[in-house]
Amino acid sequence: MKAVVIATGDELVRGAHVDTNSALVARALAGLSLECERFVVLGDDEQALVDELTRCLREGVVAIVGGGLGPTLDDVTRAAFARALSTTLERDMAVDLRLRELFVARGREYSESNARQALFPRDARVLRNERGTADGFACERGRALLVALPGPPRELEPMLRGEVLDLVRAHLARHAPELGVARTAVFKLSRLPESRFADLCGDWMARGRNPLVGVTASLGVLTATIRARGRDDAEAGTLLGAQVREFRERFAEWIHAEGEVELETLLVEELRARGATLALAESCTGGMVSARVTRVPGASSAYLRGWTTYSNESKSDELGVPRDILEAHGAVSAEVACAMAQGAARRSGARIALSITGIAGPDGGSAAKPVGLVWLGLCVDGVARAHERRYLALGRDLVREFATRDGLWLLLEAARGLGPVPMLAPFLVRDGGQGAT
Ligand code: AMP
Ligand code: MG
Repeated sequence: MKAVVIATGDELVRGAHVDTNSALVARALAGLSLECERFVVLGDDEQALVDELTRCLREGVVAIVGGGLGPTLDDVTRAAFARALSTTLERDMAVDLRLRELFVARGREYSESNARQALFPRDARVLRNERGTADGFACERGRALLVALPGPPRELEPMLRGEVLDLVRAHLARHAPELGVARTAVFKLSRLPESRFADLCGDWMARGRNPLVGVTASLGVLTATIRARGRDDAEAGTLLGAQVREFRERFAEWIHAEGEVELETLLVEELRARGATLALAESCTGGMVSARVTRVPGASSAYLRGWTTYSNESKSDELGVPRDILEAHGAVSAEVACAMAQGAARRSGARIALSITGIAGPDGGSAAKPVGLVWLGLCVDGVARAHERRYLALGRDLVREFATRDGLWLLLEAARGLGPVPMLAPFLVRDGGQGAT
């Protein structure tokens, strides 16, 4: 048994809007051990959807369609379902009443177009949408299960995770008991090229293997997924457990987290566990580190203050970077990075402060200081150290992304290495080969 995910909408095939629903659906189905065989993206084209649904019926797959359930004429999903299933659309009186009451409560007219949203293929099961007026529906024909869901992700996702997954699970138990149960584990690895990872895995990544290891790479971080299938949960768990132990052993030096967890989450957890505080002084990243840190719930218990100091004046005025240092070494230098981090630590009282100053480009580079040169300053308990990074030939956006990632990295390592609170915070600048006076 396979799954097919279908996304509909002219905005998707025009490229005006990215199809994020399909990935969401495929990941959710994978959790039920049901693999997705293909993604199909269609415009608001009734005949194309009829053709695709007809193929799904013939193949006997689970098909999840997103979009096209709205009240307007370009919403063709319900009509396409009726045609593919050779059935009629019928009004669900309970839904009709609910919609009518909803519109009255909002002081809006319940028009003929709106009333279309109470039409469903005969014998379809209605799937209630708590966040909008477009209810979904599901139709079963033998091994085939066709599900229609509204397009907006904030409506589709809760319906998917609730009623739809239950429905699919029950369908699989009846029609595809051979699928069994899948369990997965996720690891985050760093400082390891994807190719080296694959070499070290050997046949763990061979297609069809059980358990199977897969990997994706993003901004230098590898996300490895281990998937084990078994007849039941216990068997899948045993297989997974054995593979996870071997994986941990083989990749110990590169694993920085277990589970789908972001760097900033690890950082905030680490800081909170130690009761440590954080300040940020950003130039070329313009607050990107700050934005990442503040995405984490509970960041306020560790993150005290952040500055975006883009101009030389602001580096002096806001962080106390001496003007002569700025003049002598330039804003993108080890000396200024250290002084920014120290200033941020001193003015916020935080134990750890990070600064980022670099040349994101496309202009402003020179032979000595090329575009992509970034200095990160890290001040821990008053001691500052600068770290040089060269993100060459990457373009402005990626230079900023990598600098943000490396800033979070340095902070995480610093937080993990934090000793007890020192009696005195001496505000020394230690020369780590690149540091300043
Ligand atoms: P619809 O249910 O077709 O009226 O879709 C309404 C809105 O949902 C669209 O305008 C999009 O903003 C969003 N949407 C629809 N399909 C997708 C998709 N596959 N991925 C992400 N957003 C979508
Ligand atoms: Mg649409």
